Amino acid sequence: MNNSLDVLIIGAGPIGIACALECKKNNLNYVVIEKGALTNSLFEYPLNMSFFSTSEKLEIDEIPFISKNAKPDRNEALEYYRRVTTSNTLKINLFETVLSVEKEGGTFLVTSDNENYSTTHVVIATGFYDLPQLLNVPGEDLPKVTHYYKEAHPYILQDVIVVGASNSAVDAALEIYRKGGNVTMIVRGNAIGERVKYWVRPDVINRIEEGSIKAYFNTEIAEITEKEVLLKTPKEVLKLKNDFVIALTGYKPNFEFLSNAGIQLSVEKRIPIYNEETMESNVENLYLAGVICGGTETHKWFIENSRIHAKNIVKAILKKNLGAL
Ligand code: FAD
Repeated sequence: MNNSLDVLIIGAGPIGIACALECKKNNLNYVVIEKGALTNSLFEYPLNMSFFSTSEKLEIDEIPFISKNAKPDRNEALEYYRRVTTSNTLKINLFETVLSVEKEGGTFLVTSDNENYSTTHVVIATGFYDLPQLLNVPGEDLPKVTHYYKEAHPYILQDVIVVGASNSAVDAALEIYRKGGNVTMIVRGNAIGERVKYWVRPDVINRIEEGSIKAYFNTEIAEITEKEVLLKTPKEVLKLKNDFVIALTGYKPNFEFLSNAGIQLSVEKRIPIYNEETMESNVENLYLAGVICGGTETHKWFIENSRIHAKNIVKAILKKNLGAL
């Protein structure tokens, strides 16, 4: 049992790292537990992605983030958060998964797959990138189906279906088309998403209009088989020849993990209950940070607007426990 923690932070994404920095600056005894590599979500992003934010908006604790262009790419972001972590010798246990958070009296017992911890405060900064929104159709578990897009190379000269019309789906469709894949987009709504980056949206719309990328709107997948995909369009049921399906239909937070820790969720959007000033949840001394705060509204919080959570949380902990720590 690791006994003497003031704060245990779950998740070493950008916001978990920001919380660790803030704890360190304020002499709190903390540790971060991360189930994968450092900034595991960013590590899983497409290799050629660039952020929509300019680099200074992704900075934490005002540590300068220098990038070649105004909007950094994945590798530059990984380099930045790596450097922030190592140069500040932050205490982060990687490849260790937190299984449960239980409260006994004024203390939390946090159990991971490697260790038990006792701590007076917990920060949950677990993001939402681990659980894809499934299509829930037969064949979704075939090896040719993925919910994560990495790069175009395996898809050249192949019949590829991209499901979705958000930024991720549009970026994947355009990249695969430009590298030589035969791309069909399947879109549940009647248009390409309104939130698609303003400099990318006309590009995909033009490619669809000229027929370089095929698109079916108001359409859903009914079934996936080894060599085909069955579509439900407004007019008919259609069978398309298919080699790969890339379903980029979004992700969701681990609601079960939050509920098991005692956090209440709103009924409709499953937004966790927390104080917007201190980020403390309905469980005393259990805080929420980063994109986990949005419930099913996963577009609401991102690095730019949630990095402030770290300072708010540590300020609240210090204020509440003045003299007690
Ligand atoms: P995450 O980065 O998701 O970190 C959560 C961490 O918790 C993960 O490393 C995960 O492995 C870990 N974890 C989960 N469960 C456990 C557990 N049980 N035990 C231990 N560890 C656990 N945002 C911007 O501000 N600007 C942008 O330009 C931008 N571009 C984006 C482009 C793409 C393609 C995508 C997908 C997202 C983009 N975002 C952008 C969103 C941004 O990346 C996320 O908002 C950000 O990663 C959130 O940080 P976080 O620390 O809250 O969560």
